[in-house]
Parts: sequence; C-alpha cells; structure tokens
Amino acid sequence: MSMTYQEFPGVEWIEGAGDFITVDEKLCDGCGNCIRVCLAKCYKMTGKKAHVDNLERCMECGACWYSCPPDAIQFSWPPGGTGFRTLWG
Ligand code: SF4
Ligand code: SF4
Repeated sequence: MSMTYQEFPGVEWIEGAGDFITVDEKLCDGCGNCIRVCLAKCYKMTGKKAHVDNLERCMECGACWYSCPPDAIQFSWPPGGTGFRTLWG
C-alpha cells in the first residue's frame, strides 16, 4: 500500500511558505546529492542542473543544503506560520 505525503499522520503543511530554498545554477555541478537525500522529492534534474520542483512537502530538514558540495543551495526557514508543522508542536 502506498501512502501519500498528505496521509502522514500528525503532519500538516501550511500553504504559502514561498521559495525558501533556491539553487544557484551557476554553482550546481549536477552531483545529484540533493535529489538522493530529499525524502520529499522536492528536486528535479534538468540536464546537469538541479532545481527545486516543488516545496509543498518540504520537511525543512536541511539535508539538501548540508549535502551540496559547492554550496549551490540557499536555505532559509519559511516565514512564521507557514511550511511544515507537526501536530505535536
Ligand atoms: S530541506 Fe529536506 S525535505 Fe526540504 S528540500 Fe531539502 S532535503 Fe528535501
Ligand atoms: S547537491 Fe548541489 S551541486 Fe549537487 S545537484 Fe544538488 S544543487 Fe547541484
């Protein structure tokens, strides 16, 4: 049985978090780390450049940011009241 992100128990995503993660394509070397580590499947590769496809299900874990060797990923927390939230606080 497959489970969609929206069906994860105890988790909700508040809409309108904005583009709080971006990729500088000039720095991206196409290593693919961000795609491999992102459990939410937020990235896509076009040619040899990664780009953020969709942040709707981003869990704000920072794994992509940490795993990018050339520091091509800019990460900032979403504005307060938006983004990933667990129902336990
Ligand atoms: S912060 Fe985590 S969930 Fe969000 S895009 Fe990066 S790896 Fe994916
Ligand atoms: S981890 Fe960084 S360098 Fe590697 S594909 Fe992703 S954005 Fe590009």
